Amino acid sequence: MPGEMMGAKMVQCDCGFMVQSHNENEIVKMAQMHVKDTHKSDLSMRDARAMMKPAMMMR
Ligand SMILES: [Zn+2]
Repeated sequence: MPGEMMGAKMVQCDCGFMVQSHNENEIVKMAQMHVKDTHKSDLSMRDARAMMKPAMMMR
């Protein structure tokens, strides 16, 4: 899929945890798992997506 290469996204939690991937569904899943395991809380898919930002690659 052309164009997919540059589309990395990331989610950063308040605690410093960060997940970065080209796959949005994977990020949502990882973020939900993190919040459940670490914060004993639930993160909705909607909230996870709201936290999502384009990943800034190091220059
Ligand atoms: Zn966290």
